[in-house]
Amino acid sequence: MIINQAPHLHTCNGRSYYRWILALATNNSLHITYTPGHSDKVSLPAHLNYEADHYASPAQCQPCEILSTPIPTFFMDEDTFYSHDDSWIESNIMTYLHKSRSLSTSRALTSGYQLRLTLHLYNPRPPPEFLYTHTYLAYSVLVQLYTQSGQLPPADLLHSHKLLPSARCWTGCDAIEDAHHIFIHCR
Ligand SMILES: [Zn+2]
Repeated sequence: MIINQAPHLHTCNGRSYYRWILALATNNSLHITYTPGHSDKVSLPAHLNYEADHYASPAQCQPCEILSTPIPTFFMDEDTFYSHDDSWIESNIMTYLHKSRSLSTSRALTSGYQLRLTLHLYNPRPPPEFLYTHTYLAYSVLVQLYTQSGQLPPADLLHSHKLLPSARCWTGCDAIEDAHHIFIHCR
């Protein structure tokens, strides 16, 4: 039975490679027959299938030792997306865009916003359940939340949003009023 591969090759990931293999098979005297994989049969096709699996699996761990092939741009769709970071995109473009936008947003948040969201500075393990996590002093937690998310409005932030004429500390210190000044230095 010959199964038409055309609909599948229209959308599958890495479709240019499949088209290339199919073209090589079509322009050859090569005869492709179906043999069930991972079966206990002792036929020659089953044994060859087992051998192919046996060598293909460890080969994935040694990409340097595998001969490289040209990228089959000659079997790509007429319009194929290309990214500077990931080269040709032959997977679902919506999924790819979603992932790539998430990554770039995450990078921007990590290096911007006064490093408030720079996660690698922090211990990734969840905090232990100390008694004080049940404290009624929710105020201190709220202040931390506002500080970490940039919602605490010290004078430097209000000034940058043109809501205050000056960013200096309102108690009269000779300093810029940011969160660090309020909690650490301010009298
Ligand atoms: Zn001050």
